[in-house]
Amino acid sequence: MTIEELLKYDREHIWHPYTSTIDPLPVYPVKKAEGVYIELENGKRLIDGMSSWWCEIHGYNHPVLNAAIEQQLKDMSHIMFGGFTHRPAVDLAQKILSIAPEGLDKIFFCDSGSVSVEVAMKMALQYWYAAGRGEKRHFMTITKGYHGDTWNAMSVCDPVTGMHGIFHGSLPIQYFIRRPECRMGEPCREEDIREFKDCLRKHHKDIAAVILEPIVQGAGGMWFYSADYLKKVRSLCDQYEVLLICDEIATGFGRTGKLWAVEHAGITPDIMCIGKAITGGYMSFAATMATSSVATMICSREPYVFMHGPTFMGNPLACAVASASIDLLSRYDLEKMIGGIEQQLKKELAPAARWEQVADVRVLGAIGVIEMKEPVNMAVLQARFVEEGIWVRPFGKLVYIMPPYIIRPEELSRLTSALLKIVKDIK
Ligand SMILES: *Cc1c(COP(=O)(O)O)cnc(C)c1O
Repeated sequence: MTIEELLKYDREHIWHPYTSTIDPLPVYPVKKAEGVYIELENGKRLIDGMSSWWCEIHGYNHPVLNAAIEQQLKDMSHIMFGGFTHRPAVDLAQKILSIAPEGLDKIFFCDSGSVSVEVAMKMALQYWYAAGRGEKRHFMTITKGYHGDTWNAMSVCDPVTGMHGIFHGSLPIQYFIRRPECRMGEPCREEDIREFKDCLRKHHKDIAAVILEPIVQGAGGMWFYSADYLKKVRSLCDQYEVLLICDEIATGFGRTGKLWAVEHAGITPDIMCIGKAITGGYMSFAATMATSSVATMICSREPYVFMHGPTFMGNPLACAVASASIDLLSRYDLEKMIGGIEQQLKKELAPAARWEQVADVRVLGAIGVIEMKEPVNMAVLQARFVEEGIWVRPFGKLVYIMPPYIIRPEELSRLTSALLKIVKDIK
């Protein structure tokens, strides 16, 4: 098949994320990827600014991760988790729980981030059912959040930026309050938390859990909010007997400069979702963790089990590569590594803040965001980025990068300078 034929077949038959089959956005055929470089079929090499949507933290085609999968493949690539267990799953559980926020003690392996959010929400509902308070059936969240594309995950995504507006009539109704405006690094004043407090005070009898992304709201707006706010959320949830679910799917495994974003606030959620970078970007996999008290309550009333069990639960290949990824992470000096990227991003993106077309520039950990005043034309901009040899996928008003952690300073400089060159030209 020639590249032209391949692209034609793709256009005519294959759906890409959030695209039309009638008028699809252009796609670029990739041949291979290594380290921070993505190589297109035409030989062009791009510096990766996206880590394949937060996942590819160690870079592509990593010898250690490849070896872990190859080794596991020789024993078994899959075995059902009902009635069986295996070393890769137990090793991984031990590794994750030993670095997880204090108090999280039980882990449920699943297939993808969205599923781990569904699992978390079901845990919260089953918890209150078992506690004899089945009327606590709703969820509360903040606007501009993103929690995935499956049904209940969608119901807690931002109703506007969550791109799920057309399903609204059929989705469960949840409580939304405005996202905090106090920024990361700033204190949370009384007025910043008032709406959250009022909503809990009024509706806590109906609310099973608060669900939010800790510190960094990703796909719903790339917003970094005050750690102090999250601390107050934790104590209000305790005060009003509402569980706290933190969705660390994007932020987990070091992206914000701490291993977990909740560490910025020094809190432990009752339930926590992880995914994306968990396998170092090798395959779809995720997990939901809970405290012992949540797990014990769920299992102490009929039907005495947690009601979920995916076919590919605890997949050994995924567990093996996830274990190897955590081993790599534990060998990095994470705060120094991410701190270095953060300092460089701050310095190199700063000039954009003065431009007419730019509303805001913000950086946290290995995440750099340029918020424009007007929405950008994704297809046009993406073509320009590719011409300049970088891979960046903007959405709406947001042009942002979250490179692999192993990016070298000179590679990061090439990424940021190409980015600024193009953003500067946006009218
Ligand atoms: C990506 C993401 C999800 C959904 O994960 P999938 O693996 O795409 O299903 C959920 N929550 C957050 C915060 C995410 O960034």
